[in-house]
Amino acid sequence: MTHLLATRHSRAPASSTQQRNRQAANAGGFRHQRTQENSAACWPGGLPCGKHLRYSYASMSTSSGTTSSRNMLPDSAHALRPAPDWALFLDVDGTILHLRDTPDSVSASKALLDLLETISSRLDGAVALVSGRRIDNLDALFSPHRLPTAGLHGLERRDANGTVHTIPAPEALDELRPPLLKLAGSSTKVILEDKGHALAVHYRLAPHMAGEIKDRVEELVRPYSADLHVMHGKMVCEIKPWRADKGSAIRDFMTEVPFKGRIPVFVGDDTTDEDGFAYVNELGGHSVRVGVSESTAARHSLPGVDEVISWLADWPALLDRIRTR
Ligand SMILES: [Mg+2]
Repeated sequence: MTHLLATRHSRAPASSTQQRNRQAANAGGFRHQRTQENSAACWPGGLPCGKHLRYSYASMSTSSGTTSSRNMLPDSAHALRPAPDWALFLDVDGTILHLRDTPDSVSASKALLDLLETISSRLDGAVALVSGRRIDNLDALFSPHRLPTAGLHGLERRDANGTVHTIPAPEALDELRPPLLKLAGSSTKVILEDKGHALAVHYRLAPHMAGEIKDRVEELVRPYSADLHVMHGKMVCEIKPWRADKGSAIRDFMTEVPFKGRIPVFVGDDTTDEDGFAYVNELGGHSVRVGVSESTAARHSLPGVDEVISWLADWPALLDRIRTR
């Protein structure tokens, strides 16, 4: 694969960035090369320092196809100021909630619940969760609030009216359960999460088994590749139907009130969020990747969950200021 590395001395204008993306895509994609200069420490809590940032571009496979992605730490999201016509879409684990050893050991603070509710009211209800978890699981986490929510990477979606839209699971998923259960049974530290319409093999407790588990899951899913695919997230292999992804979930929300006509903003931390980034980019919205990634389509970044919460915490006052002008 061809490699390209470029050096910039100041922030490039959007048109220039788009041009580079096209050039990179045309050239077949490039690999990331991390440098001292582009470490997260370069712009803690502020704008990029802009000193000799080195970056490259890559082609990235998403469930909706291959898209070009920018292979650098994107601009800090702190440069983004919310507007009343924005629609906010949030991944959950690793984005607004810290990752834990198991999905069940995660919890949401009352402060976070109140913040989401406040932002939702300032944006006329245009705030939605877009997660790999099931909707009922998310409802339990964020109780008593019930935001519009896409679960299972878009396989199920509750719109702003409370109507749940579900994409049926293919039979292939039933056939995969027994061998995946057997795989999970090979170690007490490997967990099979049965989400009904999707399956997830977690190995956060056994990171040394990552390669072995990924290979085995890919091998088991291969005969069903017409219906199913594997998404490799952080310490998890998600096995899900091709029929939906986070990009399609956001797209569906954006056809409905109160999201319709707004500028979408999507914040996520994982490869499973890349479809969402690509879609909001298409609409001229704002994509924010949380943490350091080797390759992402997101145009903005924040270092971690705490910085996401801190960024969002400023939104109510900023939105109020705009409204009272
Ligand atoms: Mg996540």
